[in-house]
Amino acid sequence: MKPNDTKKPFLVFGAPLIEQPEIDEVTATLKSGWIGTGERVACFEQNMRQYKGAKYAAALNSCTSALHLSILAAGIKNGDEVITTAMTFCATVNAIVHAGARPVLADIDPVTMNIDPADVQRKITARTKAIVPVHFAGRPCDMDAIMDIAKERNLKVIEDCAHAIETTYKGRHVGTIGDFGCLSFYATKNIVTGEGGMVLAQNKKHIARIKTLGLHGMSADAWKRFSDKGYRHYYVLEAGFKYNMMDLQAAIGINQLRRIEKYWRRRRQVWGRYQDAFKHLPVTIPAEPEARTRHAYHLYTILIDKERAGLTRDEFLEAMTKNSIGVGVHYLSIPEHPYYQKTFGWKPRDFPNAMQIGRQTTSLPLSPKLTEDNVSYVIATVRKILGR
Ligand SMILES: *Cc1c(COP(=O)(O)O)cnc(C)c1O
Repeated sequence: MKPNDTKKPFLVFGAPLIEQPEIDEVTATLKSGWIGTGERVACFEQNMRQYKGAKYAAALNSCTSALHLSILAAGIKNGDEVITTAMTFCATVNAIVHAGARPVLADIDPVTMNIDPADVQRKITARTKAIVPVHFAGRPCDMDAIMDIAKERNLKVIEDCAHAIETTYKGRHVGTIGDFGCLSFYATKNIVTGEGGMVLAQNKKHIARIKTLGLHGMSADAWKRFSDKGYRHYYVLEAGFKYNMMDLQAAIGINQLRRIEKYWRRRRQVWGRYQDAFKHLPVTIPAEPEARTRHAYHLYTILIDKERAGLTRDEFLEAMTKNSIGVGVHYLSIPEHPYYQKTFGWKPRDFPNAMQIGRQTTSLPLSPKLTEDNVSYVIATVRKILGR
């Protein structure tokens, strides 16, 4: 027996559930001799378009690339300003920087943790060209307010749906309300391809530009250049990027997408068990989903305030890890990071809601892979650490 065999196996945070059909299809793809961008990618785009009710889709190698190309396709130029939330993953902000624009942050609503439309309104200048709302943890942003602002000021809207494939807002899928919707299939996301992303768009020209930019800037026909229709010349129209998705990745995604609702129902169950179990603990639990919306239940986060809980968030994280439970922090607010402080002069205290949540938040395991026993163990451990 190895020394740590007596220890409980570590519960990996955000572990994906990989099942036999995707394993078989990856094998079939490998054996087919066509592992690059081809029919399986086209099929994954088509199935996702149908699921989301989107007009057009382009599969890419990450949500970060999806955001980058959407911002470029939105016509954002050097010196333009793009407003996003102070409570997001760094990729949202970095994509704006890579597109040559200046990111401008808005604070969040402390209850929904989503971008506060009133603060967006305050941050608009003559240079503002777009808004990038993030449907945080899978909860939809206040899209009516955001779209009203966008229409009035003639701004593009690029929805970061990395947490929110299953999310709807007043009957519409998020990612189809603005001009662009960006999805992630990263290993910890709601469905996975390993690395992977997709852009949804409502405008044919936008998606054509994204397909061109995503494959070296070559004319759209280049996507077909290895088909059995014979050799086709391609022309480079601009200096593009290498952001295409492979059939090997789509082979996983197509099968994961078939189970998206099943996985969602399972996460909803776990989310509900946590809500019941933690409502009388000295921590802040998430707000229930709003009426006429569908939450994607990507993250389950509790806020640890030292005054109430008797320990700091970081002490809580450490205690969970010692008990073999993988936890996450989503996220330290963007202005906590040195690069943004140095480059844009941002200070955490200028975004007080995002700062406070970023310093108190803890994400508990929420994955369709969790068993009922795993969930019971997480609940018992949280209670034990909080002395209940
Ligand atoms: C994961 C994530 C991204 C980036 O997704 P990748 O597919 O890993 O590039 C962007 N925004 C948010 C909010 C995310 O959580």
